[in-house]
Amino acid sequence: MAKALDNVKTGYAMQKLAATSGGRYEITFDKPGGAAATVTADYVVLALPFAVLSGLDTSRAGFDVLKKEAISELGRGRNGKTQLQFSSRLWNQHGGWHGISNGSSYADTGYQAGWDVTRAQPGDAGIMVFYSGGSTTGAMAAARPYSDIDAPGVRSDVSTALQRAEPVFPGLSSDEFEPIETGDTRVGIGVVTAVAARF
Ligand SMILES: Cc1cc2nc3c(=O)[nH]c(=O)nc-3n(C[C@H](O)[C@H](O)[C@H](O)COP(=O)(O)OP(=O)(O)OC[C@H]3O[C@@H](n4cnc5c(N)ncnc54)[C@H](O)[C@@H]3O)c2cc1C
Repeated sequence: MAKALDNVKTGYAMQKLAATSGGRYEITFDKPGGAAATVTADYVVLALPFAVLSGLDTSRAGFDVLKKEAISELGRGRNGKTQLQFSSRLWNQHGGWHGISNGSSYADTGYQAGWDVTRAQPGDAGIMVFYSGGSTTGAMAAARPYSDIDAPGVRSDVSTALQRAEPVFPGLSSDEFEPIETGDTRVGIGVVTAVAARF
């Protein structure tokens, strides 16, 4: 979206927000490459995660006491998703569990929570998401949000997720792991895509 607009600058990290005596705002950014840039604006819309504000200089932004308190006290956490597509939905069949499951699970084997994100979609293939938080997410090997199977660390996260899911859905990790890129005609062989996100 940013690329389609004329005036959007990407890669600028806000460092400081200050109100000017003329009723405007001065915003200081770190630019890609390390240089700084200052922009003066009549209005500022802050769309960054609220908890980020505690690491920025907003001391002269004119925020009221309540907002300053929220900035200093609100915490933040980490969550991650590893999404794996399987050629068939083992969890919708009879197996080493009671009846037919819908794929949803909470486990103490390490992955924390998982569910079938494709349960409303037809077809044999299904995507299981493994959703974690806290130190479990912190220990993920993928270094970037929205990593795909070719990104460093993702294969290791996939293997970890499968090991942790195996006691819950016996047989899930027995499919041959076969990463398939978008458009690849081999879609449907075992685990076909993996996305790991860490924030
Ligand atoms: C692992 C995970 C899975 C999730 N899954 C779902 C889901 O399935 N469905 C759903 O509805 N929600 C989901 N969420 C929640 C959803 O992602 C958030 O609610 C949503 O992205 C919040 O949008 P936002 O625009 O407020 O913040 P963000 O999407 O976090 O955007 C904030 C932006 O600010 C930028 N920024 C940060 N610091 C600065 C700075 N100093 N200067 C300039 N820019 C800065 C960041 O780079 C980012 O681009 C998930 C969250 C996580 C972590």
